[in-house]
Amino acid sequence: MPESVKPDRLTARSRYSLIRYQQSQPPHCPQTSVAETANIRRDMPAGVGRYRVGVGAGIKYRCLILTAGLLIVACGWPLRAQDLAPSASAGSGIESRYFDHAVRPQDDFYQYVNGKWLAITDIPPDRPAYGAAAKLYDDVQKELAEIVESAANGGAGVAGSDEWKIGALYDSFLDQARIERLGTEPLAAEFARIAAIQDKKELPDLIAHLQQIGVTVPYSLSVHLDAKDASHYAADLQQDGLGLPDRDYYLKDDATTLRLIRRKYQQHIEAALARLGDRDAAQEAAAIVALETRLGRAQWSKADSLDPLKTYNRFELTRIKSIAPAYDWHRYLAAVGIDSKIDYLIISQPGYFHAFSQILSETPLSTWKTYFRWNLLSQFSPYLSKAYVDQAFDFFGTTLQGIPQNQPRARRGLLLVDQYMGQALGRIYVARHFSAPSKAHAEQLVANLLEAFRRDLVTLDWMGPETRSQALLKLSRISIKIGYPNVWRDYSSLKVRADDLVGNVMRATSDEFQRSIAKLGKPINRTEWDSTPQTVNASYNAQMNEIVFPAAILQAPFFDAAVDDACNYGGVGMVMGHEISHAFDDQGSQYDGDGKLRDWWTPEDHTRYAARTRPLIAEYQRFMPLRGRQINGQRTLDENIADNAGLAIAYKAYQISLAGRAPPAIDGLNGDQRFFMGFAQAWREKLRDSFAIEMIQSDAHAISYVRVIGTLLNQTAFYDTFDVEQGDRMYLPPEQRVVIW
Ligand SMILES: [Zn+2]
Repeated sequence: MPESVKPDRLTARSRYSLIRYQQSQPPHCPQTSVAETANIRRDMPAGVGRYRVGVGAGIKYRCLILTAGLLIVACGWPLRAQDLAPSASAGSGIESRYFDHAVRPQDDFYQYVNGKWLAITDIPPDRPAYGAAAKLYDDVQKELAEIVESAANGGAGVAGSDEWKIGALYDSFLDQARIERLGTEPLAAEFARIAAIQDKKELPDLIAHLQQIGVTVPYSLSVHLDAKDASHYAADLQQDGLGLPDRDYYLKDDATTLRLIRRKYQQHIEAALARLGDRDAAQEAAAIVALETRLGRAQWSKADSLDPLKTYNRFELTRIKSIAPAYDWHRYLAAVGIDSKIDYLIISQPGYFHAFSQILSETPLSTWKTYFRWNLLSQFSPYLSKAYVDQAFDFFGTTLQGIPQNQPRARRGLLLVDQYMGQALGRIYVARHFSAPSKAHAEQLVANLLEAFRRDLVTLDWMGPETRSQALLKLSRISIKIGYPNVWRDYSSLKVRADDLVGNVMRATSDEFQRSIAKLGKPINRTEWDSTPQTVNASYNAQMNEIVFPAAILQAPFFDAAVDDACNYGGVGMVMGHEISHAFDDQGSQYDGDGKLRDWWTPEDHTRYAARTRPLIAEYQRFMPLRGRQINGQRTLDENIADNAGLAIAYKAYQISLAGRAPPAIDGLNGDQRFFMGFAQAWREKLRDSFAIEMIQSDAHAISYVRVIGTLLNQTAFYDTFDVEQGDRMYLPPEQRVVIW
């Protein structure tokens, strides 16, 4: 099955790269569907209904939240030194019960550390893979379910409080009897709005409105930092408007699967419109697919849309007419309410907008109205009666993604709450499951990592002096977000009713949209979080020059404030080092310390860096985790470099944390041993062969086993710690080891 997500265009800016969940997910953006959170990765369970990503604001840059009405929360309490340091009797955090003593650590360290876990673990039947991060994800979902269920049925106290709204939102999703009774009635006013359009001149108003409630329209609007001047926000228009994940689905004729999907898509539209009572649903469906195909033909490729330079096209408002002559941009901007707030727009794909203008002129108004009607129905089908839900799932879930069965309704209700009130849910989650001392402890860990980077930058031999000083500046400006936001998002303007599911989704989406566009003209908000504390992931955001480590990833086996730190540095420390290193790699060279899109390296730096890292291509290429399936050393290079850097820096940070003290031996293991074991156990993962093949063929990361072994092969400290010598399977001669940091 081909990739079923749209190009996310987040690559340059944020890298949800390390843990492979939600890696292309712009979290909690307006106009994205409930289903996305859990469905980006096909090894995660199925979500609510729409299986497509990235409609609207936030597709290219994660959406921008928290503008007006900041809610300041006093967090934390006075910390004492003993809160920060684990007690003398702290455990090692190393799960030695999973060691496989039949294997020598010098021959296969991954198997040595994880062998018994691999032997006793079954991949759950609905998953293609399972590992430490997947287990955390499951644990967190259970904890979130407890919160939501206790808030449901009026159990949440004060009416109008966040917790009460969480309960009401969840109740509205679970009230199936009411949803069945209402049918498509909740959409009646919106259908009428579309029906009332008499002239194409009115389309800018309609498009502006539909965008706000999350309906797919031919282009999307997002608000993000201006890539070339990160001191203010800019409005950006991007190609959109397709019901299928990518233009290839409409255009490629060489793949049978795509042809089949295309045919089934048209059948799905026809059936849904027929259910709505349309007599000529067949012709309507054909016209919609034809229109989307024209839009698709005009769209840029995924690669071009991911290119931060190509997609930076600034148009002053005085010349926006030239973008799409047949379209009244001033009317559109006024309808969105941003005409007086901006002087210019960023147009990601100018060629597409020009084509849109022509397609707009040549397509009859009646076809456009049918197209918008369909998109309205499709967007809200997961919140309508069972017949619509099942039909939408049959296409977007089963046909498009191969997921046989929709998830239980309660689970989808949880995803809905997480999607639309994620920060409120996160606030309760953190209060129950993540302590201020844990946060402070993790912050101390990051401080040592940054110090390790700083010490290395001073001596790094592949960076010239001019670049070095800019690198140090960039390092000093990295902002660190650990655990949860210091300033929580304010949901007071959100109106939630337990008897109005569709209305709740519309209002929540619209609130997000307003929150996003309200940023225009305002100072940069550096306290906001794009992700939620309950996200099991980590990211580096190049434009904000910040790293984000939500509370949910700060758990064992990645991190545990109660155990000795060696394990933590090998676990989450390596993950942090990986993310921070992206600020100083090939991609990071494109954004300076202010988040401005400009290459701050000299040509010599690029040459030296490429020469230093190039041997990793051949080194990883030699791995063949499955018979006949080699790792692609070139495609995975950037991530392999980040792993190499992350572990090296984490090791140095661990040494800094010791401040010359000898670490205690715990469970018969010394500090350095625990460091490397902590690393290997955090990456234990079991994959079905079919999924492993898919990862090997398409993912930017190598599979977990290779990430552990490949990274260790180049770490001299690993050789010293475990006496790896010539003749051992994990031995590389010193001159072949790639040392970047
Ligand atoms: Zn990465």
